[in-house]
Amino acid sequence: ATPTALLVGTGRGSQLGILIGGPQALERTRTVDTIVLDKTGTVTTGVMAVRDVRGVASADTATVLALAASVEDGSEHPVGRAVVEAARARGLDVPRAVDFRAVPGAGVQALVGTEVVLVGTASWLASDWAIALPDDLAAAVSTVETAGGTAVVVARGGMALGVVVVGDTVKPEAADAVRRFRELGLRPVLLTGDNAGAARAVAEQIGIDEVHARATPASKLETVRRLQAEGRTVAMVGDGVNDAAALAAADLGIAMGAGTDAAIAASDITVVSGRLTVVADAVRLARATLRTIR
Ligand code: ADP
Ligand code: MG
Repeated sequence: ATPTALLVGTGRGSQLGILIGGPQALERTRTVDTIVLDKTGTVTTGVMAVRDVRGVASADTATVLALAASVEDGSEHPVGRAVVEAARARGLDVPRAVDFRAVPGAGVQALVGTEVVLVGTASWLASDWAIALPDDLAAAVSTVETAGGTAVVVARGGMALGVVVVGDTVKPEAADAVRRFRELGLRPVLLTGDNAGAARAVAEQIGIDEVHARATPASKLETVRRLQAEGRTVAMVGDGVNDAAALAAADLGIAMGAGTDAAIAASDITVVSGRLTVVADAVRLARATLRTIR
């Protein structure tokens, strides 16, 4: 490939809002045959809203939401932004938290007063904090998940206090983009840290049948590696800190423009608008560019 032809390709790319990291990225796009899509923020808008709040008998919903918001104040995750916005909209008095920490793909933690407050998946609370859900909360979580929603658990001082139900919407162009990936010969795979019900609901809406749910950042990376071991050449599209390792390991890492700095830094290509059909444009453009060169 001549450097000039590659530069022309990347110039056209930037007109389309595709930032291409370098000539290698264009080269790799030629052989990509599998496209792994993160769900939240990649296939969905990533603009989540709080749909419901439930509390155990000793905690009213305002307390649950206010505590959640105090921890999520430090979060850049869509779930966190939804929680903070809902507390603000309800005019709740949100206590100040310190020692904030985010665990990608799992949840967030901080100190509120003298107690550790956690907001995250039931499985993270169980595995890392040995916090079990009372039966009524466990039932609420499973009802939400079966219906295709996402419920995060709020815990304080080692006790689950309630759940916050959040949801976002599939990007309007997502189904069209998946159709175009197939036309380009790419096998689409949906990969998410969210629960199986939420994953399945989105997969059905956009026409994907291969779904991996409850993926941690490490298992996202493993999925990419496993596909590569099967002989696939893998493009990974993501937006989150939780996607960074998988994006870096993929043959072609594609970040959504509104994504986190970690995702963008780990990727070969950035789609500025975050529109999924532009990912298909990027693949088409890179292939056309390479055809011109050869
Ligand atoms: P995806 O892979 O679809 O982008 P993530 O890996 O970012 O999803 O998140 C997976 C799950 O981890 C979320 O559905 C949520 O339950 C939990 N989670 C992640 N970050 C947070 C947070 N800031 N607050 C609460 N829960 C979170
Ligand atoms: Mg994401």
